[in-house]
Amino acid sequence: MSEQTKYLLSENQMPRVWYNIQADLPKPAPAVLHPGTLQPVGPDDLAPLFPMELIMQEVSTEREIEIPEPVRDVFRLWRPAPLYRAHRLEKALGTPARIYYKYEGTSPAGSHKPNTAIPQAFYNKAAGVKRLVTETGAGQWGTSLAFAGSLFGLQVEVFQVRVSYDQKPYRRAMMETYGARCVASPSVETAFGRSVLEKNPNHPGSLGIAISEAVELAVQREDTKYALGSVLNHVLLHQTIIGQEAMEQMKMANDWPDVVIGCAGGGSNFAGIAFPFIGHGLRGGQKTRALAVEPAACPSLTRGVYAYDFGDTAGMTPLTKMHTLGSQFTPPGFHAGGLRYHGMASLVSHCKELGLVEAVAYNQVECFEAGVLFARNEGIVPAPESNHAVKGAIEEALRCKREGKAETILFGLSGHGHFDMASYQKYFAGELTDESYNEADLALSLEGLPKVPESV
Ligand SMILES: *Cc1c(COP(=O)(O)O)cnc(C)c1O
Repeated sequence: MSEQTKYLLSENQMPRVWYNIQADLPKPAPAVLHPGTLQPVGPDDLAPLFPMELIMQEVSTEREIEIPEPVRDVFRLWRPAPLYRAHRLEKALGTPARIYYKYEGTSPAGSHKPNTAIPQAFYNKAAGVKRLVTETGAGQWGTSLAFAGSLFGLQVEVFQVRVSYDQKPYRRAMMETYGARCVASPSVETAFGRSVLEKNPNHPGSLGIAISEAVELAVQREDTKYALGSVLNHVLLHQTIIGQEAMEQMKMANDWPDVVIGCAGGGSNFAGIAFPFIGHGLRGGQKTRALAVEPAACPSLTRGVYAYDFGDTAGMTPLTKMHTLGSQFTPPGFHAGGLRYHGMASLVSHCKELGLVEAVAYNQVECFEAGVLFARNEGIVPAPESNHAVKGAIEEALRCKREGKAETILFGLSGHGHFDMASYQKYFAGELTDESYNEADLALSLEGLPKVPESV
């Protein structure tokens, strides 16, 4: 094979800044509101939860924000991350399309999440914080924050969603290896956790509940802050290192994507790879379609409503306008735990409203099928979440085949599936089914959305 397969950047080509899409949007995203007053929240409202540097990034409209040198120094452990051309997958599909993927599974945690865990730990440490509390779904975020905490000398406590805690014992072992403490959520350690367990002692948990538990603990102690692994503007900002590297690598390949694809749970890896390309188009450069792929069992972008909602189940967070299934929605226990969130990042939702982002939903069995085809041609076994991006890319490649178009497809392979082999086992045993949510539960959850007047 004469054409190149792997595109690597040198360490000194690692981006020095994060890209903030808020500088280029034709219309600013709707304000975040205080749930009591319905007035826009100010930096001080968020201060009990986050250090000021992160709050300033949350509201910044500067196009470029410098990546601190100690953060870049840790990133050198695995960044710049490789970009591959999927020659064998193209051949297997018989498509005229060129398929590239940016692989984030080379990080110590095995996914893109350390891209934000490291700077979050850095800014908290710099602000004198001693302890970070967080939630985790599949365990990827908890692992990443545990890793970051160990490097920066911060104590880390993780509320892991009960179903994942039971399904993925190795994730917990990994968090403990990094010195973190991991608790199944709902737990008896918080008032909110106890209230949930009182109603249903066998509650499978949800990200919304785990967030409430973590926030409840964080606001109780001066030396403790909260960290979120997705959804927030500063998290999406940190992930843009993915797309910026990919832009350099596409230049090396002398090519440019017609479409960029990512799986979307809270929206951070999707935004990370897509926002730099969207921004390039907004500033007059070549336009790239951006396609978010979500699970059919938790379809916030494709089935949710665009409305103000809480980020957690107890209603402790500020209100953000986003595509949401309602904060009372408990998604079924399918295997892409990282995609089981009721809402979507406000910036991704806003971009969808502006027509800058498209979305599609697929069921889990067809996504595993896509992931297995990918593994057998490209060698990497994707995380169940990433399988959604693989499925999206394969469908685009098959469309190119039908239409006889030699388009360029770029997708984000957000992580490897080495801790998810139990779900692959189930897939091969024919025991994996397409879980669907209860329509009545969804309707009820949407009815419970907070009432915010149109005028705000
Ligand atoms: C957490 C996770 C996701 C989903 O989170 P986003 O914020 O939507 O990126 C996707 N893939 C992997 C591997 C994850 O760990």
